[in-house]
Amino acid sequence: MKKLFLIIGAPGSGKTTDAELIAAKHENITHYSTGDMFRAEVASGSERGALIDSFVSKGNLVPIEIVIETIVTAIKNAPTPIVVIDGYPRSSEQMTELDTYLNTEKEVELVSVIEVQVSKEVACQRVLGRAADAQVVREDDNVEVFNNRMKLFTDPLAAIQAFYVNKALLKQIDGERTIEVIVDEMDAFIQSKI
Ligand code: AMP
Repeated sequence: MKKLFLIIGAPGSGKTTDAELIAAKHENITHYSTGDMFRAEVASGSERGALIDSFVSKGNLVPIEIVIETIVTAIKNAPTPIVVIDGYPRSSEQMTELDTYLNTEKEVELVSVIEVQVSKEVACQRVLGRAADAQVVREDDNVEVFNNRMKLFTDPLAAIQAFYVNKALLKQIDGERTIEVIVDEMDAFIQSKI
């Protein structure tokens, strides 16, 4: 039986960094970021990567068939009993598809959906700050693409929150504090659930 945690949050919420730090602390946790998996596919130079890039570079959602296949493969191949995926779901459709998958796959249990909450202003400062940092180059970290990514994050959020509140699976965490404090809270929460 695999225990699955999902982490959602606006661009710049820090969800990938938080999850990476938590996974690094525990041998029984594997972390995947949908954005990182897509960027790796783009970097591989494959035809599929080129298709993915046509969405990621504009801040648009990658087509659902690709996203579902990517996360299901990641869950199945994860070498540990605890799997943390950040960046999913990003639409009501993705949420419903995952629900259908979980209803048929009895070896995977969704334990919680953690939402890292930041204001639009903080998200924007962090993403554009990241763009100014020569160490991190992401083609989608510019104002225009950021606004699109933010809108695509915000539009389905209420429906996603309501769906998981109804299942008593939603955990909201204040993402405007220091990384250490956020990671400590998220880590303690995950540990309390496994
Ligand atoms: P992130 O690293 O989470 O900011 O994601 C970067 C980009 O990858 C997004 O702007 C989308 O283009 C794509 N992406 C990541 N996760 C998903 C998803 N669950 N569904 C569709 N596209 C995604």
